[in-house]
Amino acid sequence: GLTVTKFRRILVKLSGEALMAPDGYWLDPQTLSGLAEDLAEATRAGFEIALVIGGGNIIRGARMSAAGWIDRPTADSMGMLGTVMNSLAIETALNAAGVDARTMSAVSMPTICETYARQPALHHLDKGQVLVLAGGTGNPFFTTDTAAVLRAAELRCDAVLKATQVDGVYSADPKQDPNAVRFDRLTHDEAIAKDLKVMDTAAFALARESRLPIIVGSVHAPSSVTALLLGKVHSTVVAP
Ligand code: UDP
Repeated sequence: GLTVTKFRRILVKLSGEALMAPDGYWLDPQTLSGLAEDLAEATRAGFEIALVIGGGNIIRGARMSAAGWIDRPTADSMGMLGTVMNSLAIETALNAAGVDARTMSAVSMPTICETYARQPALHHLDKGQVLVLAGGTGNPFFTTDTAAVLRAAELRCDAVLKATQVDGVYSADPKQDPNAVRFDRLTHDEAIAKDLKVMDTAAFALARESRLPIIVGSVHAPSSVTALLLGKVHSTVVAP
């Protein structure tokens, strides 16, 4: 059977909401340092980490443009800028936790951070630096889930760790349906056949085509990243 322990280079996808304060403020230093400690622990355990942060704590382009006053590409540009702010925040927290972290943005803004390019990105990972990938894919109409799968594929990551509110993929929403069951393992095809929303459709299609494993789990508790990667806590692993 498949064990997650063979994974070494991991693309961690956090939603922007993972950075929020308990009172709902968009960014929380304590939450950030907790996540940074968790990621630092994973690097000490020998994992190479690339990180994609969403921007949903600030702006989601689809939602904003639905109100009608702004077009989707402009709202998505604002969304991508939000992911840059989140990335700089987590980069700062990682550096404070003793990790050498580097932000690269898909949207070039050379006075603020490096522009994403594959070869230097691979070089940073090879050196053991944590790579923070900002700006999503750099294109409107995509999400940071797609960016996560895209970068995982091009940076030769062994898996994507998608952090969610719950400890895996369930047959139904566990917060609403008491009979919902969690899957330990799924193939990409099974997830599609059962219509389980692991990621958005574009992101999931790319993961399936790249035969990229996706670990779905919660990083709410301390040390969750390492525990998930070592298979020590519940998750769902989607793999061929
Ligand atoms: N976005 C985009 N292209 C991308 C990635 C993100 O236009 O490749 C924009 C889009 O508006 C999106 C927002 O940035 O809603 C924030 O990203 P996302 O919704 O994926 O954040 P998350 O839900 O993970 O916090």
